[in-house]
Amino acid sequence: MAKQAKYVFFFGDGKAEGNGKMKELLGGKGANLAEMAGHPDLRLPVPPGFTITTEVCTFYYDHGRKYPPQLKEQVNAALRRAEKILGRKFGDRENPLLFSVRSGARSSMPGMMETVLNIGLTSKTIDGLIRQTTGGRAEKNGNQSSTSQAERFAYDAYRRLIMMYSDVVMEKAAGVEPAEDQGIRRQLERILEAKKHERGAKTDTDLDAADLKEVCSRFKEKIVEVLGKPFPDDPVEQLWGGVGAVFASWNGKRAISYRRIENIPDAWGTAVNVQAMVFGNMGEDCATGVAFTRDPGTGDNRFYGEYLINAQGEDVVAGIRTPAPINESSKSEHNAHEISLEKAMPRVYKELHGIQKRLERHYRDMQDIEFTIERGRLFMLQCRVGKRNGPAAVRMAIDMLKEKLITREDAVKRVTASQLDELLHPVLDPKAEQAAKPIARGLPAGPGGASGGIVFTAADAVEAAKQGKHVILVREETNPEDVEGMRAAQAILTARGGMTSHAALVARGWGKCCVVGCAAVEVDLKRREMHVGGKVYKEFDEISLNGSKGAVYEGKLPKVDASEGNETLGAFLALCDKIRRLKVRTNADTPEDARRARSFGAEGIGLFRTEHMFYGETSEKPLQKLRKMILARTEEQRKAAIDELFPFVKEDIKRTLEAMDGLPVTIRLLDPPLHEFVPHDEMQLAELAKEIGMSFEEAKKRADGLHETNPMMGHRGVRLGITYPEVTAMQVRAIFEAAAELLVAKKAVFPEIMVPVVGVDTELEDQIRIIARIHDETAKSKGLKKIPHLVGTMIEVPRAALRAADLAKTAQFFSYGTNDLTQLTFAFSRDDAGAFLPEYVAKKILPEDPFQSLDQAGVGELIEIGISRGRGVKPDLKIGICGEHGGDAASVKFCHRVGMDYVSCSPFRVPIARLAAAQAVIEESAKKSAAVPPRRRATAPPRGRAAASTKATNGASRNGKRKVRRATVKAR
Ligand code: ADP
Ligand code: MG
Ligand code: MG
Repeated sequence: MAKQAKYVFFFGDGKAEGNGKMKELLGGKGANLAEMAGHPDLRLPVPPGFTITTEVCTFYYDHGRKYPPQLKEQVNAALRRAEKILGRKFGDRENPLLFSVRSGARSSMPGMMETVLNIGLTSKTIDGLIRQTTGGRAEKNGNQSSTSQAERFAYDAYRRLIMMYSDVVMEKAAGVEPAEDQGIRRQLERILEAKKHERGAKTDTDLDAADLKEVCSRFKEKIVEVLGKPFPDDPVEQLWGGVGAVFASWNGKRAISYRRIENIPDAWGTAVNVQAMVFGNMGEDCATGVAFTRDPGTGDNRFYGEYLINAQGEDVVAGIRTPAPINESSKSEHNAHEISLEKAMPRVYKELHGIQKRLERHYRDMQDIEFTIERGRLFMLQCRVGKRNGPAAVRMAIDMLKEKLITREDAVKRVTASQLDELLHPVLDPKAEQAAKPIARGLPAGPGGASGGIVFTAADAVEAAKQGKHVILVREETNPEDVEGMRAAQAILTARGGMTSHAALVARGWGKCCVVGCAAVEVDLKRREMHVGGKVYKEFDEISLNGSKGAVYEGKLPKVDASEGNETLGAFLALCDKIRRLKVRTNADTPEDARRARSFGAEGIGLFRTEHMFYGETSEKPLQKLRKMILARTEEQRKAAIDELFPFVKEDIKRTLEAMDGLPVTIRLLDPPLHEFVPHDEMQLAELAKEIGMSFEEAKKRADGLHETNPMMGHRGVRLGITYPEVTAMQVRAIFEAAAELLVAKKAVFPEIMVPVVGVDTELEDQIRIIARIHDETAKSKGLKKIPHLVGTMIEVPRAALRAADLAKTAQFFSYGTNDLTQLTFAFSRDDAGAFLPEYVAKKILPEDPFQSLDQAGVGELIEIGISRGRGVKPDLKIGICGEHGGDAASVKFCHRVGMDYVSCSPFRVPIARLAAAQAVIEESAKKSAAVPPRRRATAPPRGRAAASTKATNGASRNGKRKVRRATVKAR
């Protein structure tokens, strides 16, 4: 008989068929439930249950929403096994067993998929549940109160089931789209609210059994009225309804939108977990909570969490009641008056504390855990690697390394580029903050500072962001429907919810500034108003948030950089530096930029644009000289103008070379088309003409003559140098004189002269002749034998990549200008791509904007061709990248794989490039050690094997000696 496909994996009673590594098959939640239940080092108290695999989800969508035929039998067998362990029966009138149905994708998708608790509760089993509940106690004290408490509990569980089930299964999964505020959950919530109001009850827990019983029957009536069919009174129908809803919700609007943002493939599918219920809502000795093994907001090594007495699961996250702190160190201004779990149930707390320690040691990472206490007994319901913000990620990586919990490589892998980016992002200026008085305080749920105009709906946030406005999304609380608006906003402020609320989870994951549970804030959605301390704030009124402290301010506060003097960050980046092989340079045009970039760790300048001195504040004088040069009629006039321009260029270069103190500085010769510098306004042109002693007509004629239809592909770059050799000569002389003077003054310098827009070797040779002549003249005049320098070319024209072997004969380095190379490879004008690129990305015509993240397949292939052909001629050819991509983590990793020597990016991206370069080394050695079957290796070398011959922590290449790398494209 053929081996039966296994669709169901059981866990419980110290055993599990799955384990933590099986995330693809069991989803994250299922894999970790199996690990917690069955791993010999853990065997934690996990209620028994089973996981229906992601393969079933795939099957379901491949087969017109049908299950594999074997599924039912396997599910029934697993149900029987859970029943046996617990001595109860699913659907039994006397001794019923209830289940939860929980979704579980591979990576956590907070709030995206739905959970239904208390499955199996019906009009026939509810009395059984009540008897079960009184069982132990009623016998002992045999009193009325325990019976009515049991009754209260059972109807509390029932009303939750009815609400969750009708919402998730009967409405959402069924594709019913209710009008705003008319969803079944809202309608039922209103019934509950009305009941509370009628009874003068403050919270759910103030309602008694009779109240809840009535609520349940009103719920059922409402469901028939609104959805046109009854709430199912059959346990098996409930179970399969729940399972089907999980699968259906995988293709729900919200799940799809979240996947798009997080780049989760649609094909992954979700698993379903069916797990025996334990109850945190049976009374005062019951509770439920959520905790982190370390503080996810700061990274502090302290157990941190929230819990609620007499509550069930989602209450903590939903922000319906303000949760209490689990221990003293989790107390905040908001919940300081609440009694901690540590005090309320010291024995259980101690057990929980022990378990969280074991979990962290086992997983060697911060865990986010969910637990429930049923009558003093602790149950673990979930664990996963906890989301954290950037500062916390860096802090934990460094601490865990010190604690020897993880290796240096682990530490570097643990921090993502965007988490690091958070540390480099501004915070509110502490001085301004001190002077301002917060209008309200909430919980610090997402780091950093932000300011913006208030908006009240996710749609408004998206709309405003489209118009380029900075907004802060202010909500009562957020829900998964808000994610796109949360994304679009600068920051999020909610009136309700704790550190584990939806808003907090999402913001923390994204590293977005966020303040939650700000009770002083009242939101009037209808009037688009926020009321705080008697004051009314209207839509687009500006506020500022400090998401690290939880403070809210009126108006727009100034911001400052957070990275300066951050020792943990310094230590972390030093770790990266020990691992990486790629050098990291910066694109800097001023001595100030250069200095800042060095403080971020830049090891040179990869792009100094000479033309920058003609833009901006101090450009007036040199710009005038330049214009004079451009408009000159005769060569003599031009030469005179050039002589006047020279000292400005030299001074600028000199100061930058000096600031870099001997580190390489790549200076690019003048690149933009000249007409860019000529005034387009006639008045201004007339003024200029007067200044330089030219008639207006003449100046106009010259200016018009410079007009180009397609300047991007026009008279620019090396083409300027060829037609105006004296312009090249002037710049080169400025470079050599500046360098020579610094050398004479005993300062170290290393200029690298770079010729832009080269496509043909003879272009480069032409310029190199000029450079060599000026070098010799300058050296001689300064009494030097030689001025150390390199001459190289940018590779930004496809022809240059293809003919790299020709260019490498004379070039000493290549620097890939990937902005232009991308433009020219795709034939996308960067200035005009805005009209279609966003739609290309939305429609998945392109996976990403190729100007942001390098198109590794296409532009990347040209790069690889250029490298292999160039190094085929000159094995030690120095190669780098100076496009915008040099600061994009994925592109940096690509540059490593293809064997570049350095990347260059804007100063603020330098730390990110340092991280990505280190991660590239780690990924490379991981790939190498994952054994590749020889057959596959022979036929299809995987991408990036170009650099695979380089050792992981290769010291040799960092000292300048590079191994010749095998590239995927043969040199010609
Ligand atoms: P989410 O992915 O939204 O966290 P979960 O499946 O973890 O959804 O369910 C939410 C909450 O429901 C859990 O944190 C837990 O408190 C509660 N819950 C789920 N299953 C059970 C169960 N078998 N017994 C008791 N509570 C449960
Ligand atoms: Mg949920
Ligand atoms: Mg959960």
